[in-house]
Amino acid sequence: MKITFIGTGSGKTSLNRFHSSLIISAGSYDLLVDAGDSISRALLSQNIPYNSINGILITHLHPDHSGGFAALIVQMKMNNRKEPLVIFSHHTLIGTLKNFLSFSYIFTERMGFPIHFTGFNFDDEIQISRELYCIAKKNSHLQEDERYDPSLSYASGSFLFKSLDKIVYYSGDLGSPEDLYLFKEHKADVFITEAVHVSYDSILKMSLKLKPAKVILTHLPDEGIPGINPKRTKNDYMIIAEDGLVVSVK
Ligand SMILES: [Zn+2]
Repeated sequence: MKITFIGTGSGKTSLNRFHSSLIISAGSYDLLVDAGDSISRALLSQNIPYNSINGILITHLHPDHSGGFAALIVQMKMNNRKEPLVIFSHHTLIGTLKNFLSFSYIFTERMGFPIHFTGFNFDDEIQISRELYCIAKKNSHLQEDERYDPSLSYASGSFLFKSLDKIVYYSGDLGSPEDLYLFKEHKADVFITEAVHVSYDSILKMSLKLKPAKVILTHLPDEGIPGINPKRTKNDYMIIAEDGLVVSVK
């Protein structure tokens, strides 16, 4: 597996980092994880062709993770895509993603390439491609919002990606430090966690308990992470991601 960090910023728009997004590559398959506001420009800035992306996984519907989804589909059409595209998300979010396209006057039958929507359940094993699997678990990122509108889905996932014998964890956006332990029975080769909704201290505690082989911090605010010691994190074990960082999982 290979991980390419497309954006490593938080929900706050920044001139230094695009919103959080990454590509998980396994074999010849490239899965884009999240497509927030400005995702098309973020991909362009890294010379990643839109049509090299085989699938898009949306972790949750906050705009820094999904706001650029419709615009990216348009860019794929404008770049004469012919290959099918698969959209993965929790099954309760698929209707909203479809509406996002149709309310943006993006009609899938006019795109010139097939778009397939695959809704998954939490805790099920999801086959992304021949070489890539993942399991999603519900985290508490949107729990506080659940009281506002009971008609909405508040699905927000953390993910474990598996290819051959390698395991990559991706936190998505979190709600509490307990969310870091959703896959505690698995030892991750790379543990990628956001660093805005959980403290650096709780990430350190997790790393001592779960002992992943490598920890990468993303979803980072411009002003830095409170409590972080840049000297201690300047090593191969705990990495502060930057846009464009590529990590091979060997
Ligand atoms: Zn976010």
